[in-house]
Amino acid sequence: MERKQNYSRKREAILNAIKSTTIHPTAEWVYQTLKPDYPDLSLGTVYRNLSQFKNDGLIISVGTVNGQERFDGNTKPHTHFICSSCGSVIDIPDEFVSLKTNDDIAQKYHILVDSVDVQFHGLCSQCLQRHTPL
Ligand SMILES: [Zn+2]
Ligand SMILES: [Zn+2]
Repeated sequence: MERKQNYSRKREAILNAIKSTTIHPTAEWVYQTLKPDYPDLSLGTVYRNLSQFKNDGLIISVGTVNGQERFDGNTKPHTHFICSSCGSVIDIPDEFVSLKTNDDIAQKYHILVDSVDVQFHGLCSQCLQRHTPL
């Protein structure tokens, strides 16, 4: 019983960590963030829980940025901008693909479209400042 409670407490903490940030963290970030409060937490536990949350639709995966999978606690449809210099992932709430476009594509290719994933790439404002000579 004790063991099980401890387990679900960790599970909760992992989910909360993802839900309470907009930085689209990696498993490593979650691990480092929770480690002080959960000294017996392992990176494997974090990975296992994240993939479970993903399967359950509680979080989404943004994809791999610089070799590390990035997670998002915001499961509402939204668009991402990924900085190709520092790897920061920024939410762009605007909708870029309309329902009409989905229908057009569905008709043209005889497929059923139920979600669209648009990603923007480039330099974030911080990197832009760093790259621009004053
Ligand atoms: Zn950047
Ligand atoms: Zn996001």
